[in-house]
Amino acid sequence: MKSVLFSRFFILLPWILIVIIMLDVDTRRPAPPLTPRPYFSPYVMGRGGARLPLRRVGPDSGPGRRWVKRNESRPQPQPRPEPPLPTIYAITPTYSRPVQKAELTRLANTFRQVAQLHWILVEDAVARSELVSRFLARAGLPSTHLHVPTPRRYKRPGLPRATEQRNAGLAWLRQRHQHQRAQPGVLFFADDDNTYSLELFQEMRTTRKVSVWPVGLVGGRRYERPLVENGKVVGWYTGWRADRPFAIDMAGFAVSLQVILSNPKAVFKRRGSQPGMQESDFLKQITTVEELEPKANNCTKVLVWHTRTEKVNLANEPKYHLDTVKIEV
Ligand code: UDP
Ligand code: MN
Repeated sequence: MKSVLFSRFFILLPWILIVIIMLDVDTRRPAPPLTPRPYFSPYVMGRGGARLPLRRVGPDSGPGRRWVKRNESRPQPQPRPEPPLPTIYAITPTYSRPVQKAELTRLANTFRQVAQLHWILVEDAVARSELVSRFLARAGLPSTHLHVPTPRRYKRPGLPRATEQRNAGLAWLRQRHQHQRAQPGVLFFADDDNTYSLELFQEMRTTRKVSVWPVGLVGGRRYERPLVENGKVVGWYTGWRADRPFAIDMAGFAVSLQVILSNPKAVFKRRGSQPGMQESDFLKQITTVEELEPKANNCTKVLVWHTRTEKVNLANEPKYHLDTVKIEV
């Protein structure tokens, strides 16, 4: 009995091997990457272009998959047209100081790697400066250069900064989109001294109304974050003024262009605004805590840091120009 089974097995064995080899040949195509290629890949297309993701077309399994003989030309599956990538509008207030160009350089180096990003740079100044104009012209980024000075009475420690500049950015956005149907877009307030991971832009791009995420090195703690339960924001992890309705830093949220346009009066306020309440005062006008969309893995990943640049030591800088050349720093 045993020997009969053995002989059957050896007769079938070559056939089993042939079937295995054929299956193997057909599936031996380049394996897809484990994680999809990020669409902010800096090397996909040229400057300022829509750097779209490299997409695999055609199914690897499922009903669309067919067995075809090698060398038989198979009809190429038609790639579906991509929906337009929402534009990320980054509003950056900036002011003249020794580290300004260094900060802007760092920021531009990040932004240049993000697809479909429009930089709205707003100078806190009575006019657009030569330094920033020259810098932007060479930055290789779609950008808009605005300026508005902060009134002298508001330039005091303890008062919120950059209120007028953020509002100027909002006004520009509303003006630009007033006549056309809103293209998909996301607005984000990007201070010039923070540190932004590229992943952050991937997260915020899918904002439907208002999205939120943790911010590192802020509020006297290593991080602050929205507390999330069942996909909803239910509170805030913060060490500073936990009574804020939205205990979140400026770098911790993004707003869809649609929301900005349908709330034309939502702006940052000077009057009645207490220190640290800028974000809450603004967000209150456009959303509720229940409505917030948590990003960054239910607000468990820090993708942006509220870094602050140390004041530079210029103790040995001469009073009058001594060098033989004039150098922009
Ligand atoms: N800023 C400005 N004018 C000022 C002070 C600050 O436009 O007088 C800008 C600054 O360049 C940054 C943002 O406002 O993009 C926030 O300022 P800062 O980083 O000093 O504030 P903090 O980090 O302390 O909130
Ligand atoms: Mn800052």
